[in-house]
Amino acid sequence: MREVRVRFAPSPTGALHLGGVRTALFNYLFARKHGGKFILRIEDTDQTRFVPGAEDYIIRSLEWIGLDVDESDLKGGDYGPYKQSNRKELYKQYAFELVDKGFAYYAFDTPEELEVMRKTLEAQKASVQSYGPKTRMTMKNSLTLSAEETKQLLDSGAQYVIRFKMPENEKLVLKDIIRGEIKADTSLLDDKVLYKSDGMPTYHLANIVDDHLMKISHVIRGEEWLPSLPLHYLLYRSFGWLDSMPEFAHLPLILKPDGKGKLSKRDGDRLGFPVFPLHWEDPKTGEVSKGYEEAGYFPEAFLNMMALLGWNPGNTTQEIFSKEELCQLFSLEHVNKSGSKFDPEKNKWFNKQYLERKPDSELAEYFIEDAKKDGIEVDKEKAALICSLVKDRCHFSHDLWKESTYFFIEPTSYNEANKKKFWKEDSAQILTNAAKILEQETDFSSKNLEDKISAWINENGLNFGKVLNPMRLVLAGECKGPHIFDILNLLGKEESLKRIKKGIEVLG
Ligand code: GLU
Repeated sequence: MREVRVRFAPSPTGALHLGGVRTALFNYLFARKHGGKFILRIEDTDQTRFVPGAEDYIIRSLEWIGLDVDESDLKGGDYGPYKQSNRKELYKQYAFELVDKGFAYYAFDTPEELEVMRKTLEAQKASVQSYGPKTRMTMKNSLTLSAEETKQLLDSGAQYVIRFKMPENEKLVLKDIIRGEIKADTSLLDDKVLYKSDGMPTYHLANIVDDHLMKISHVIRGEEWLPSLPLHYLLYRSFGWLDSMPEFAHLPLILKPDGKGKLSKRDGDRLGFPVFPLHWEDPKTGEVSKGYEEAGYFPEAFLNMMALLGWNPGNTTQEIFSKEELCQLFSLEHVNKSGSKFDPEKNKWFNKQYLERKPDSELAEYFIEDAKKDGIEVDKEKAALICSLVKDRCHFSHDLWKESTYFFIEPTSYNEANKKKFWKEDSAQILTNAAKILEQETDFSSKNLEDKISAWINENGLNFGKVLNPMRLVLAGECKGPHIFDILNLLGKEESLKRIKKGIEVLG
């Protein structure tokens, strides 16, 4: 195989959505698998769609996910600049080259003339309603005007575009690594604009020229670009670059969790899950969207779940993969042809798997950070201990603190349903007696308390639930959480007794 050089080529038109993340990830994995290069190229030729902050957002997102780029404007590289607006001058000569070779032509039609064409074709119910092989000879362009007229128009500074001259009636058979043969009939295609007189190339021209100059070996991109494949192939052919044309792989769509169709931002809003990796504030609308990072996802879990969206590792039921494993295992042959349903519940499960596998000392960092936001300082050792006790109830890093606030903040109310179920007439008396046992203890370790309280329960023929449920209710405000003796130990003697007494007073 030739040297693998792949690129992620986003347009900075907004936040990076999940489809974009997955495209970047598959490019990255493919590059790493084959010891190749992963390139970030910013495709910002359409200035009308430029959104400030979007490029920076894309870069930060790749960093957060852990997709290190080998070549980019930030990173450097031999094929820069890696932002198309900084390569503007370069595209012109290629556009003119195609005109000279007869593969493209100048078109001078005004928006009004184009509108008339569109309306006429619509009225005729024409099979192809676009500027192309069937209509171009009725329009105002260098194919219908004389060389002299064309020159005059160009010299006078008339507005023009350069259009690709789509061959008539050619049947193309192209290859896609994921989909196999792709057939296309050029008579159904139009004469796409390649270059505008404002000096900007369109996506198609800039994309092909850059892929060629940057020696891209494989183009791995979303399915929405499959219809452009015939044009891209024809551009390579027209330039005489077929020998070094990249191979193409079009990734399947990411589908809505419910129903059909492509996953959209609206689905996330409707069903309550993020569709962007990081927090995003739309500079145009001011709309704020939560990212996976803020939602408490770990980047490794996010990467793992994204990798399995449309790719499978073959003969295994394994679902948890490190980035390194994925780099080893990834292959385009195992990418599905059909769309993959996005499953927000499964994503939570992924995150939980990572949370459970993380060392408590690492979880403690998140815990300390969240506690700080509530104005509470927690030392690392205690934070790690609490994390070890509550983590099996947590899906996200934020849950660690949410599940444990009662260790630091005395409950101000008691869960109504738990109260109804567990607080009985004799609960106050039972807890008063239990408090007496606790008061005598100088060793407030979980183990010792368990031994003593259990012995007392057994000796007095009491029921464990009748003692421990109300005790949990007054200590934590509700009947949840880790082992009750761990709660007592962590709260300490004084605080535990204080809460028990208060509970007895309030609940009676
Ligand atoms: N700039 C295009 C995009 O935003 C890139 C398409 C491609 O990879 O060829 O998706």
